[in-house]
Amino acid sequence: MIIRPQSKGFICLTAHPAGCAQNVREQIAHVRARIKGPGPKNVLVIGSSTGYGLSSRIAAAFGYGAKTVGVFFANAAEGKRTAAPGWYNTAAFEREAAAAGLAAYSVNGDAYSDDIKAKTLAVVKEKLGPVDLIVYSLASPRRTHPRTGEVFNSTLKPILRTYTSKTLNFQTGQMADVTIEPATQTEINHTVAVMGGDDWALWIDALESAGLLAPGAVTVAYSYAGPEATAAIYRRGTIGRAKDHLEATAHRLEERLARLGGRAVVSVNKALVTQASAAIPVMPLYISLLFKSMKARGLHEGCVEQMTRLFGDHLYAATPPPTDEIERIRVDDWEMRPDIQQEVGRRWEKARPDNVERLTDLAGYRDEFFKLFGFGFSGVDYDADVNPSVSIPSIAG
Ligand code: NAD
Repeated sequence: MIIRPQSKGFICLTAHPAGCAQNVREQIAHVRARIKGPGPKNVLVIGSSTGYGLSSRIAAAFGYGAKTVGVFFANAAEGKRTAAPGWYNTAAFEREAAAAGLAAYSVNGDAYSDDIKAKTLAVVKEKLGPVDLIVYSLASPRRTHPRTGEVFNSTLKPILRTYTSKTLNFQTGQMADVTIEPATQTEINHTVAVMGGDDWALWIDALESAGLLAPGAVTVAYSYAGPEATAAIYRRGTIGRAKDHLEATAHRLEERLARLGGRAVVSVNKALVTQASAAIPVMPLYISLLFKSMKARGLHEGCVEQMTRLFGDHLYAATPPPTDEIERIRVDDWEMRPDIQQEVGRRWEKARPDNVERLTDLAGYRDEFFKLFGFGFSGVDYDADVNPSVSIPSIAG
C-alpha cells in the first residue's frame, strides 16, 4: 500500500517502514563516524524503540559493538493499519545489527510489568549474560503497578498556581493561550509513580537478584531541566516532581552499584521533538524557538547527536567533564548556554500569530515531527507500494 502521513493533534496515525529504516541507518552512520574506543559490551535498553532510547541502543551497538537487548511497547501492523514507528525502527535496527554481526534481541510489552521483566531477564541470561550498561528511557502516560494493580496516569500540570502561557499548534501554525489548573496531590503522586524512579529501581533489583549485573555496571536514566519559560509546566510542575524522584533514585542506586564498582547516573538531555515532548503544552513553541537559535549557531542536535556526546564524551570518555552540583551529566549544556537562552527568551516575548513562522523554526519542528514516523527522508520513495507488515527477527522467533 501507499503510506501517507495521517495526523491528528500531536499524533501521526501512520508510519512508514522504509522511512523509519532510513532514520535508523542515518543514526548508525552518525555513530560509526564519531564513536571510538572501549565501551559497554552487554547492554539492556528499557524504552529502546524511539527517541533517546533508540539512539542509545544505536550508540552502544554500532559505536562500541555491544550486544543489546531492547524493551519497548509498540503495535505491529494489522490489516491496513501500519505498525507504530517503534516497531519499524526496531525491525530496522535488528536487520542492520544482523548485517554487522551484532547480537540484538527485543522484547515487546509493558516494561512496568513483572511478566515483561521476567521475560527480558530470561533473554539477557540466555543471550548476553550479565549486563554492564542499563539505559532507562521510558516515557509513558500510564503505569499499572506490578504488585498492587493500581493504575497511575501521569499529567502535565503546574503545581499550586494556575499557569497561563502562549502555545503554538505546530500543525497549523496557530498561536493561542493555554490555561492549566494546578494539579491535585493525587495527580502529582500519580505522575511520580509513572515517570519517577520507582520502576527503574525495580529493574535494577531484578537484575541484581538474578545475578545479571556485571562488575562495573553503569545505569543511566534521562531527565530534563529547561529554562524559566517552561519551568511552571515542566521542572516545577508534575513531571518535574517525577524527575526529582528519578534523580534521587540515581543517588540511592549509586550506593548499591558502587559495591560492584559501577555507577548510577542521570543525564539531563536537551529538549527535542519526540512523541513524548510533542504532548507537553508550550514545548512545541519553545523547541521551535530553540531550533532557530541553535541552528543559527551550528549547535543543533537531534537524539543521536546527543547520545553520541553522552556516550563518547561522558559515560565512556577517558576524562569526562565534571557532573553538575547534584551529580547529573549535562548534555543540555548547549541548550542552556546564556546566549541561546537570551535569544529564545527575547523571541518568546515577541512571538505573535503574525510573526511566529519568522521568529521560530516551525518548519524544522514539523519536519522533525514527521520524521519520527518515517516521513520526509530523502532517498525514500513515498509513492512506492510498500508492505506495512514487517517482522522483527528476534520477536518472530
Ligand atoms: P519516546 O516517547 O520517544 O520513547 C519512549 C520509549 O519508551 C519508547 O521506546 C516506548 O516504546 C517505550 N515505552 C513507553 N511505555 C512503555 C511501556 N509501558 N513498556 C515498554 N516500553 C514503553 O520518549 P523520549 O522523548 O525519548 O523520552 C525518553 C526519556 O528521555 C524520558 O525519560 C524523557 O523524560 C527523557 N527526556 C526527553 C526529552 C525530550 O525533549 N524528548 C528531553 C530530556 C529528557
